[in-house]
Amino acid sequence: MSSPFAAYLFDIDGTLLRAGGAGRRAFTRAMEDLVGPVAEPVAAMKFDGMTDRMIVREALALSSRGFDTALADAILVRYLEHLPGELASPGFRVLPGAATTLGTLQARGDAVGLCTGNLALGAQLKLRHAGLEDYFDWSPSGMHGFAEDGEARARLVAAAVSRVSAALGRAVAPADVLIIGDTPRDVLAAREVGCAVLCVATGNSDVAALRACRPDAVAESLEHPDARRLLGLESED
Ligand SMILES: [Mg+2]
Repeated sequence: MSSPFAAYLFDIDGTLLRAGGAGRRAFTRAMEDLVGPVAEPVAAMKFDGMTDRMIVREALALSSRGFDTALADAILVRYLEHLPGELASPGFRVLPGAATTLGTLQARGDAVGLCTGNLALGAQLKLRHAGLEDYFDWSPSGMHGFAEDGEARARLVAAAVSRVSAALGRAVAPADVLIIGDTPRDVLAAREVGCAVLCVATGNSDVAALRACRPDAVAESLEHPDARRLLGLESED
C-alpha cells in the first residue's frame, strides 16, 4: 500500500506510551532538590501536550523562586537524572498498536520521526524503556522535534519538518507531513505550521475533546481503523 504522507512524526506521551506518572515524579523530585517542596498549584499542573521547558517555566512562575534560565536548565538536568529510576515503576505501559504501527511504517520504507515536548534524552529513555527506541534514528540526521527546539510546541513541529526536508534531500511541504498526537496542543501546533494531524484518544483527552479541535482524524487508538486509514495502512472501504 502506498504511503499518503512524506513523513510521520509521533508524539510520545499518551500517543506511543504512558509513563505512569514517571515524568511528573522525576520533575517533582528535581524541583524539590533545587527549589524546595512543591506547592499545590505546581502539583495540580496538567502537563499534557506541554514542552518540558514550558512545564519548568510555569512551575517556577508558580513557586516562590520565580523563573530564571539557569535554574530552569539545572532543573531539567536533574529531571533527566531522576527519570530512569522513575520509569521502572509498574504504571508504565506501551499503548495499543504503537509497536505494530511503527514496524509497519518502517517496513513500508516511510520516514518516521518524533515530535515531542520531551527533551531528546528524556524521549530516548522513555522509548528505550518501551522497547521502541530502535524505530527511530538517534543520529543528528534524525527527523525529530524536541523540547530543545523551543518552548512553544509549534517551534518543535517546524524544526522537525525542516529536518524531514534535510533528511529526504528535497523541500517537503508541511501538508505532506502527518503529526500523530493525543492532545489539543498537538493539533494547534501542527495547524500553526500547516501539517496534517491524527489524534489518538489514548492520553488524557477523549475523542469528543479532540474532535472539537478538528484534526484530520480522531481514533480511539493507533489500532483503530480511522487511525490506520489516515496512516495509509487500511483501505478506504
Ligand atoms: Mg502527548
